[in-house]
Amino acid sequence: MKKNTGRILSQLFMIIVLIGVMGVLINYFFFQNRELREMGYTRQDIEKFKEYEILDRIEYYNPFLVKAIHNDRFRKENLDYYIAIRTDSDLTLDVNDLAEKYSVIELVDLHDFLSEEEFLKLVFTDKIGNNEIFRQTYSHGYALQKAVWLSNSLPEASLQHFLELDKLENPEIYLDLLQKGYTDATITLTARSLTSEEFEHFAAMRHVPEIYDLINAGSFKMDNLARYLWYMKNHKVNTRNAVKAVNANKDVINGDDLDYSSFYSGATGIPHSYLNEETVLVNKQNYLGDFIPDNLIPLEIEYRGNNQPLVREAAEAFMAMADDLKKDKNLTIIAQNSYISFEDQQDIYNLEIEQLEGDDSTIDETIMKAGYSDHQSGLAVDVVQKGTSMYEFGQTGSFSWLGTNAWKYGFIRRYRENREFITGLRPATYHYRYVGKQAAELIHYHSWTLEEYCFLYQQ
Ligand SMILES: [Zn+2]
Repeated sequence: MKKNTGRILSQLFMIIVLIGVMGVLINYFFFQNRELREMGYTRQDIEKFKEYEILDRIEYYNPFLVKAIHNDRFRKENLDYYIAIRTDSDLTLDVNDLAEKYSVIELVDLHDFLSEEEFLKLVFTDKIGNNEIFRQTYSHGYALQKAVWLSNSLPEASLQHFLELDKLENPEIYLDLLQKGYTDATITLTARSLTSEEFEHFAAMRHVPEIYDLINAGSFKMDNLARYLWYMKNHKVNTRNAVKAVNANKDVINGDDLDYSSFYSGATGIPHSYLNEETVLVNKQNYLGDFIPDNLIPLEIEYRGNNQPLVREAAEAFMAMADDLKKDKNLTIIAQNSYISFEDQQDIYNLEIEQLEGDDSTIDETIMKAGYSDHQSGLAVDVVQKGTSMYEFGQTGSFSWLGTNAWKYGFIRRYRENREFITGLRPATYHYRYVGKQAAELIHYHSWTLEEYCFLYQQ
């Protein structure tokens, strides 16, 4: 009996020990899972955690992690990102892309800073350069793409100046101006003082270091910019006096008081690289020599008064302009004089001298010497309205239509009233010059001459 009792007791003990050990083991294997289940993970989630050997990394319920592990784009090396970012949306793919650009901390920061929608757009942008610039410009209202671009382009020293401006439509201009050598103070002054069109026009100009003083002189007018600079140089006056004088047209010399031959003194040859430019400046100061333009083509017969060709772009623009004038006003214009060669210009000049019979003092008022004529560029055209003469052009409906519309086709009126002191030639209502749409728009907008435009844009 005693023996039996002892055996039963020892067996019982062993069973209890066994149950205990199994309990510990069961506890060991299922405790963690139970905790995960309690956090909210499903059996399938936990299977995935096991498969990826990340069970020990899970500390709380993370819906993003759940979506990530069930996505075949799951990448274990990005686990830290999936764990750190708290979101309901399915960003697996994007986070994989973003992880190539940003550290976990950076990305979590960005995720907190941006809306989910904006955050996703980061996939398509460059890496953010300067974080401070990015955050401040973005908060200031610049679009994400622009703010990222600025973070990589704008010097940090310029940030506060830059932010003082209202949101710029083209912040690239700010950078262009910095590169040209303007200070932040000058850029903010010009951006604030000029209209947005003027600011863009200004930004495309060569470096004009005087601009800060000119604007600060008060009553600055962009239309007069070249004239201010010329006046300062010719009269050795300060900016304030130059602005005052030019605004009062003190620089304008009456056409009757000019010595038209004096414009030739100090003339120079046009640099080779400019010869075929549509904005090439040809006048008594800038000599074409015996240059023959490339791409001369004849105008179609209904558009021409003789056989002179034009440079292709100018010819096509002229014909388009004539077509639209016809459609709009039922008026017909033709090109009377177009390209005139060096030799032909020489003949024209000599013939005129013969006709003046010794009194050739006025010849330089209206006719250029060979090599100096706008017509030799192949970009100039004397326009006639059908049924009238060239010299009546100023009284025609075509003339007033061109006054409003020629710039849209890239043409400007080359020799205007009260600008003889700049162009060195008497005004002509019929002489138009092709300069391309961009230049024509600026010249028209500011009522400049080609001389002023070239002075501001080509040095
Ligand atoms: Zn002409």
